[in-house]
Amino acid sequence: MKQINAVVWGENVHERTNKIVAEIYPDGMHGCIAAALNEADGINATTATLQEPEHGLTVERLAETDVLLWWGHAAHGDVEDEIVERVADAVNAGMGLIVLHSGHFSKIFRRLMGTPCNLSWREAGERERIWVTSRQHPIVRGLPDHFELESEEMYGEPFGIPEPMETVMIGWFQGGEVFRSGVTYRRGAGKVFYFQPGHETYPTYHDANIRTVLRNAVAWAYNPEARIQDVNAAPNRSVEDALEAIEQKGPRLHEDGEEGFR
Ligand code: ZN
Repeated sequence: MKQINAVVWGENVHERTNKIVAEIYPDGMHGCIAAALNEADGINATTATLQEPEHGLTVERLAETDVLLWWGHAAHGDVEDEIVERVADAVNAGMGLIVLHSGHFSKIFRRLMGTPCNLSWREAGERERIWVTSRQHPIVRGLPDHFELESEEMYGEPFGIPEPMETVMIGWFQGGEVFRSGVTYRRGAGKVFYFQPGHETYPTYHDANIRTVLRNAVAWAYNPEARIQDVNAAPNRSVEDALEAIEQKGPRLHEDGEEGFR
């Protein structure tokens, strides 16, 4: 069986600058998430970070990536626009993308959603109870009907996202707010999953249920179909090459064979 190549992209800032985060995640949050994925037989997970050349996401690396996971918070603005477009093209061509927690404000998520992706929030270490809303969905396979995280950052509605393809989990917070904690999209040939838990000062990615969701989500987001070569291609079709004879009418702005205009 083919192994799913997953790349966990980590911003890798707080792990190096904040003692609490470094103690919870001595191998970085990306390292902890990759370890969770590698517990599955069918997943081969590696990591990439903001500080690497091209943020670790070269054309060659992305070409062999089946599913990309994205955790960022403090340095969204430091991610090069060219790399964001490269990742967007890869998603449109069929690469899976899993956006975690504060990645809701990442350039790539906002680029693919086309909306502000804003939300309300509170950092109080309060309890979160996550409810499964779609029992048969592969992303929640093996989960109980609900589970709790003793401490999470509150993310509350309204969440400025487009209406999801599926809402598979809803989170309730001790302070009373609710949030669409697990939502899916399709962008081009790529599957996208946003998953809310994962504030860096709490041990969320050590939680067994969270790790199950991450593994399930990678398997769900994997699209074994062949990649489209150029997702931005917009070829012109000439009058002469039409399948049936057509008579050209009216004025025209472009010559046959011109490259797509955009
Ligand atoms: Zn957070």
